Amino acid sequence: MEMIKGIAGCGGYACGVLRQIARAPAARPEAAGTPEMEWEKAEAARRAAAAWMRDQSEQRRAQGRTEEADILDVHRAMLTDPDFSDGIRAAVMEGASAGAGVRGAAEQLAGMLRGSGSACLRERAADVMDAAAALIRFLDGSGGQEREAEEDQILFCRELLPSDVLGAGERVKGFVAAEGSRTAHACILARARGIPTLVGVGEGADRLAPGETAILDGENQCLLICPAQAALEKFRALAAREEAARLRLERFRGRPTLSADGHSLKLYCNIASAAEAKLALGAGAEGVGLFRSEFLFFGRADLPGEEEQAAAYSAVLRLMAGREVIVRTLDIGADKPVPGVALEREDNPALGCRGIRLCFARPGLFRVQLRALARASAAGNLKVMLPMVCSCEEVRRARAMLEEERAGLAAQGVPVAERIPLGVMIETPAAALISEELARCADFFSIGTNDLTQYTLAVDRGNPAVAELYRTASEPVMALIRRAAASALRAGIPVGVCGESAADPALTLAYLRMGVTELSLSAGDILPMRCRIAGLRLDGAAEKEAEQ
Ligand code: PEP
Ligand code: MG
Repeated sequence: MEMIKGIAGCGGYACGVLRQIARAPAARPEAAGTPEMEWEKAEAARRAAAAWMRDQSEQRRAQGRTEEADILDVHRAMLTDPDFSDGIRAAVMEGASAGAGVRGAAEQLAGMLRGSGSACLRERAADVMDAAAALIRFLDGSGGQEREAEEDQILFCRELLPSDVLGAGERVKGFVAAEGSRTAHACILARARGIPTLVGVGEGADRLAPGETAILDGENQCLLICPAQAALEKFRALAAREEAARLRLERFRGRPTLSADGHSLKLYCNIASAAEAKLALGAGAEGVGLFRSEFLFFGRADLPGEEEQAAAYSAVLRLMAGREVIVRTLDIGADKPVPGVALEREDNPALGCRGIRLCFARPGLFRVQLRALARASAAGNLKVMLPMVCSCEEVRRARAMLEEERAGLAAQGVPVAERIPLGVMIETPAAALISEELARCADFFSIGTNDLTQYTLAVDRGNPAVAELYRTASEPVMALIRRAAASALRAGIPVGVCGESAADPALTLAYLRMGVTELSLSAGDILPMRCRIAGLRLDGAAEKEAEQ
């Protein structure tokens, strides 16, 4: 038996026969027809692929599979991007075949993205190659069809593409990839579909051979190749235990979140669209702790205007029917660039003009969002939250702008809330260190442990090379979290946690003891967390029982 280590893009256990993901064969380099004919062919395939992606996206959205639909929309936007089509045209006019033109244009664009300083942009390179692979399938005449496998499989490849996950049939039980990190689109999809995935295995991928049996152990972040009988039996027992645990969780649906000794806490959901708010409600969320509003700006070349934004926020507020909805103002820049907002090139974008700084630098953009939020405030229980705050001055300035927009609309007779609570993300060490002061000028805190960990430990959250150093549970980060929570408690304002660590069972007791009032999680984590909290006690004697 051999073991290779990686990073769990999606946890869980899988067992199957290893199969390598076949990539689209290289297209014929020489053009069979005239440049005009090749261009026509490329254009026809591009239209067909884009239409197929639109149909697939609509079908998946109707089934509530929003992450998959969103990614198909991003791929369609790439295929219809004029720069991409200009690149194809230039290549075929120089004598390349339609397929070679597509591949060349995609490689050029992906190469630029891979060379970028932003982890998010580097990950988009996989999306470009994936969209191009789909286009080449249409050129070859094989279109969007997928084949169903005959045995349980674990698929491996160098770089896992979103379409690998989108197209995975019933018998695909896991994925292994040499490259990649947890935040890649493909991993987000694998988590949404619950397919155990191991990425970043590096040279370990060279030891994988098609046809061998393997166990993917997402909990221990490893792959066991040719496991012994004893390992296989252990795996079967673990998989059966997982299924039984999933069934046991159902009794926590619709129940309040209470620890065994009666401490209550709210479990909210992180969302990126109104469709996800539906999933959140279905999963038993008691509110929305983080609506990442910048996602409304992804996958499109234009910007959503005041009406469109107001409609999106109002739809979520109405769906949540009086439950709290915390909308975070635009957090673009750094690892989240959006096509509609041209950003200056920065050597160090994570420390540059992002989040609230970018909003102040582009007041026109910010005010449109603030007006949209003020309009939506009439539709439910809205709270607004600011990202990347480092000073009270930023909070006062944003509050004055929000109030100006709210009062302006009220003066025109537009229905708005009397007061819109304004909170801050605690996601910079600066915010945690001045939390005592911030708690006097903010209405609530939400601790963004993803960035707080990155900035405290000086570890890029998207870089697999330093992933082992990225530890929210480390003392420096926990000290800042404790400090922020204590400041909120003293000031009597709510304090939530909305980073990924909110779902980390190893930190739940610590968060409860700090007096955290809400944890905001992915929809799938809500019932497991409610169940976990029900088994915890904050007092010393019962703590042992809770930690067993
Ligand atoms: C965070 O930083 O913890 C957070 C929730 O924000 P994002 O992951 O969107 O940066
Ligand atoms: Mg953040």
